[in-house]
Amino acid sequence: MTDLRVAIAGAGGRMGAANIRAVAATPGLIVHSAFDRPDSATIGRDAGDLAGIGPLGVVVGGDAEAALVGADALIDFTAPAVSVFLSELAGARGLIHIIGTTGCSREEDWSIQKAGSAGARIVKAGNFSLGVNVLLGLVRQAARALPGFDIEIVEMHHNKKVDAPSGTALMLGQAAADGRSIDLDSNSVRSRDGHTGARVPGSIGFQALRGGAVVGDHTVMFAGETERIEITHRAQDRGMFAAGAVQAVIWAADQPAGFYDMADVLGLKQ
Ligand code: NAD
Repeated sequence: MTDLRVAIAGAGGRMGAANIRAVAATPGLIVHSAFDRPDSATIGRDAGDLAGIGPLGVVVGGDAEAALVGADALIDFTAPAVSVFLSELAGARGLIHIIGTTGCSREEDWSIQKAGSAGARIVKAGNFSLGVNVLLGLVRQAARALPGFDIEIVEMHHNKKVDAPSGTALMLGQAAADGRSIDLDSNSVRSRDGHTGARVPGSIGFQALRGGAVVGDHTVMFAGETERIEITHRAQDRGMFAAGAVQAVIWAADQPAGFYDMADVLGLKQ
């Protein structure tokens, strides 16, 4: 089998560098191209140098369309509007498009899903780690088994993160809502301040902490009258997300066009 040629979007970003390292280290995949915003200071740098693994002979460009010429797959951890635009290009070219971008609106998610029908093989996930995807199943189960317990989700991330609550916190909230067979949007409490009144029974609370270099911590609490369960996941290295993205590229190579998530890749859907 010939190597899969992978384009890296957002090459100058934290996840971009981790994705370059992960693709370069995976037999059967090659870093085909790397690109960032046209005004990024990383344009013209060697992608391997940027990722701290020495030169790869791939220069970071500023033109997404040029970077996708000859590519089989695109790994994209950038920003919502960018991922929507790139999914249109991926749909038109029948590419594998792995999307880790978080903070997409419902409309942006719809546009991305349409690209799956247009011919792309899209895997989009708010979290590409094995641990979090297993945690989702545990949360769904606990929410179902503990109907009277209050559910609170607390997350902490580094001080550069621009969206809140995190994509992972929202996925955990959705898993809890699924376990209770309730709608998440109409039962979420996103922040509390001032005279809030008593907690609304059955609601799912979110709290977002920001500070330092924290890669990503999530705790789901189930608080009852006389006992409390807390389930915590701590991400220690972005390499774990990149490893999941690479696994998704390899998995998607054998799938028909469509829209998938990490539970499909990991075989966690019943
Ligand atoms: P970052 O700011 O370090 O990197 C984003 C990069 O995208 C930057 O280099 C930026 O210049 C680039 N970019 C912006 N516009 C672009 C364009 N038009 N074309 C190409 N590149 C463009 O952020 P990060 O920490 O790497 O996170 C990126 C995204 O991935 C965020 O949404 C974050 O929440 C998400 N994330 C997801 C997971 C997951 O497992 N799904 C894990 C970590 C981070």
